[in-house]
Order: sequence, then structure tokens, then C-alpha cells
Amino acid sequence: MKENIVVLGAGPAGISAAWRLSKLGYSVTVLEKDSAVGGMAKTIGLGKYAVDYGPHTFHIRETPESRAIIDAIRPFFGEDPLILTRGTRVLLRGKYYVYPLEMLQVLTGVSPLLSARIVFDYLMATVRSALSPPKKEHSFEEWGVRNLGRTLYDLCFGIYSARVWGLPTSQISSKQAQRVAKLNLKNIILRTLGIKADPATYFTKYMYPRKGISQLFEGMADEVRKAGNVIRLDSPAVRIERTGERITGVVYSHNGQDERIACDGVISTLPLPQLVSMISPALPADVAEHASQLRYRSLKLIYIALKRPVMTDYHWVYLLDEEFRVNRLSEQKNVSAEMVPSDRTVLCIELSLWKDEPLWKASDEEIYQLALRDLMKMGYDVTEAEVEEYHITDIPTAYPVYELNFEDHLIPVLEGVHKVPNLLTLGRHGLFLNNSMDDNVLLGMKVGDQIAAGGFQSEVWLSEMLAFMNLRFEGK
Ligand SMILES: Cc1cc2nc3c(=O)[nH]c(=O)nc-3n(C[C@H](O)[C@H](O)[C@H](O)COP(=O)(O)OP(=O)(O)OC[C@H]3O[C@@H](n4cnc5c(N)ncnc54)[C@H](O)[C@@H]3O)c2cc1C
Repeated sequence: MKENIVVLGAGPAGISAAWRLSKLGYSVTVLEKDSAVGGMAKTIGLGKYAVDYGPHTFHIRETPESRAIIDAIRPFFGEDPLILTRGTRVLLRGKYYVYPLEMLQVLTGVSPLLSARIVFDYLMATVRSALSPPKKEHSFEEWGVRNLGRTLYDLCFGIYSARVWGLPTSQISSKQAQRVAKLNLKNIILRTLGIKADPATYFTKYMYPRKGISQLFEGMADEVRKAGNVIRLDSPAVRIERTGERITGVVYSHNGQDERIACDGVISTLPLPQLVSMISPALPADVAEHASQLRYRSLKLIYIALKRPVMTDYHWVYLLDEEFRVNRLSEQKNVSAEMVPSDRTVLCIELSLWKDEPLWKASDEEIYQLALRDLMKMGYDVTEAEVEEYHITDIPTAYPVYELNFEDHLIPVLEGVHKVPNLLTLGRHGLFLNNSMDDNVLLGMKVGDQIAAGGFQSEVWLSEMLAFMNLRFEGK
């Protein structure tokens, strides 16, 4: 008989694992604390509007791996999915530029003096690198200044990243450069000329199900249920019970009652500190101590419905200048026009915070006013009278934060957790990896295949995941 497996979390990683295991004939129970599947990749209804948790498009990379993932989940996109060409911009010194940056546009868009400084600093940085070949770059700032020159780095990454991460970039690990690893000036210029684009990093196409990103994960959930398996919503896991080394059961809470499921193994997509705190008897104290040092950046999503048919032409815009407190604006309608009535538009504005700073606890009205002030600086003549309604959603653990020494804490936690022979972790929070949905669908499928091939092999899984994470840290 095949094992009884409990999956913790019904976001992209957990639901993909449950879907794959269901196809392979396993008995699976998914525990999800929320009232719907999808995790952070969820579509919510706000009256007559449907919106995602911030922009959520499925990346199409020109790689065999990406094609295989999309082929596997193609039916969940519906009959006529949208294929979108990347429509992202940065707002820099009052002008909108294509993102990823097209350098000639930036150099001709900013003042001649600034443009000359960008080129001069870049050349100086290149000469400096040639004369003293790069030792290890520890911080994001060191990486950026070495590769881009001080002026371009500050303009395009330094100020913005310090706001997003809530730390000076000298305190952020260079591993955070994963998303922009290929963004040195030489590559930016080559790409502007249409050569040397890396298909894994510089994808330009997205896929999107017309009614919202949740369609993908609800489609998978339907198949899990059709296979006779169970997804328990509104059912947060509260305790993971071990007998000897092995997990033998998971306790969850539902309608104020604790229930227990006996199991042969657990796949967790929960934040690592939360997972560690639930294991009983507890893992060694140093694992808990390291887990407590892993920090997450939280996000408030401020949705503002305007009484106008559309505001921008873009999917989303990064707000680079110091005058902004919020990070990014997106316009759902430009991703799928079917989710918002034709005479209205809904904007989503993202504000990064630490959960222990006072603004996290501020009233919705205060947060809305802060977002509205920034919206008014974006050049679209928005007035408060135009706002039909607003709505605020919190994501407490949106982004794992890569502080300088984060791996000194992360590795002992991952090793400690994977010493439990029948516990595997994956997903954004299970690996502490700022990755995207396609990655998490891939990992969900991989974990199912690995269990089918050889049962729970935590240490093998861990070494594969560490190799996978290193590839992502290298921007591959
Ligand atoms: C603003 C924003 C925009 C993004 N845009 C994109 C994009 O355009 N494209 C892209 O590919 N990716 C995007 N991402 C990333 C994407 O959201 C993640 O890669 C993905 O959601 C991670 O999936 P996951 O399953 O690992 O984690 P999650 O989605 O976080 O799922 C974890 C699940 O665990 C549940 N859970 C937590 N605690 C418990 C508990 N005790 N018991 C049971 N369940 C629990 C949570 O409720 C959640 O449902 C974006 C992320 C953010 C924050």
C-alpha cells in the first residue's frame, strides 16, 4: 500500500506536490490555513472586481524545463489563455523606462550630466575590477557598484532595494542579486542590441488564465479531490508529532477543535521558523535558535479602484526614486481585461514593511492615504474624488530576507529539519528562496516523482534542493 502523506500549505508548491502525488496513486491530505488554495498566488474577489495578490503572471522561459512545466499544467490555464509580452516599466526621475533596462533609453533619457556620470563610473568600476580581480562580493552593494558603477547602481537598484528590504544594501547579501545577476552594463547594452539574451533570466513572455491566477491552483485542487484525496481549508497545522526520529502524525485546528491525522510522511511549504516551532518533541535547540534568525519582509497590498477605464499601459511599474515610500504599482486590467468592468480600473500598490514597525499596525485609512500620496506623484493626475473604493490585504511573510550572514542560519535549519527522515520541505518558505510560481510547480512535481522513485529520502532531497538553490543564486 502507498504511503499516507500530509502536505502543509496549498500554495503553488504544496498543491503541485499534492496533485503529482495524487496522479501517482498516493493517499494525500493537504492542510491549508486559509479558506482557499493558491497561497500568495491567489485571486480574490473585491465586489465587482477580481484581483491577484499583486501581479502574478506565469513566466514562459525558452528552456526545456519551462516548456515541460507548462505542458504539464497547460489544461489549468483554460481553453484560451492569455500570452502576454512583458509590459513592465521603471519610473525613474519622472520618466517611464522599459524594464529590464534598455540602456540607450536611460542614457538618452536622463540629463547629459547624469548620463556622463553613469558611463564614467561604469568605466572606472570596470577598470578597478580588471586591476584587482573580484574577491568575493559579500553585499548587494559591493556587487552592484562593482558591476554597474556607483551612479547606475544607486539610481536603479540601491535606493529601491533598501526600501524593499528595509535595510541598507551593505547589509543585504549579494545572493539577493539573483534576479539581476546578468544586469551589468555590458549585458544591458548587448541585450538592447538584441544579442546574448539569457533565456532563463530574460524571458519576455507570460501566460495567464483569463479569470485570475487562482484558476491554475484551483484546477490542480479539483484533480486532487477527484483522485479521492482531501484538501482541508481553514485548517492550520499546529503540531507535528514525532515518535523517535519519524513523524507519525500532524495535529491541525478546525473550527476551534484540534484534529489529528496519522501519516507516513510530511511535505512542508510553511515558513521554516514556523515549521521548526511545531515539531514535537522539538529538534535540537540550536536549530530553533538559527530558525529564529531568519527574517521575512511583510507586504501590504493596497488596492485602489478608480472611476476611469484604465490608468497605465503597463502590467507593473517599479518606483525607483527616493520620493516614493511604496515599491510597485500594478494594474490588473492590463494583465486580463476580463477581471475588471470596462469603465473602472483597479491598481495594486505594494508597501514593504517589517511586522514589528508601527506602520504595520497603522489603520487602513492611514495606509491608503500614504499609497494615494504616492499614486498622485506618478504623473497620471489622479485625484481622491476619482477613487471609488480601496481595500488592503496583508501578507506577513512575503519575502525571505537575505541578510549578510543568512546562510549561516539557513543551512543549519535546513539540515536540522531534513534529519527527520520522513519530512521534506519545498517552496518559497520551505527553502527560504525568493523564487517564482513556475519554480514551485516544478519542485512540487519533483518531490512527487522522488517519493515515487524511492520513498522519503530527506538527505537526498536536501542535497538536490541546495544545488537547485545555488543555481538560482547564480541567476540561472
Ligand atoms: C507581490 C508578489 C508578486 C509576485 N508575482 C509573481 C509573478 O508575477 N510570477 C511568479 O511566478 N511569482 C510571483 N510571485 C511569487 C509567488 O507568489 C511564489 O513563488 C509562490 O506563491 C510561492 O508558493 P509557495 O507554495 O511556496 O508558498 P505560498 O504561496 O506562500 O503558500 C504557502 C501556503 O501555506 C499556507 N500556510 C501557512 N501556514 C500554515 C499552517 N500552519 N498550516 C497550513 N497552511 C499554512 C499559507 O496560507 C499558504 O497558502 C510573487 C510574490 C509576491 C509576494
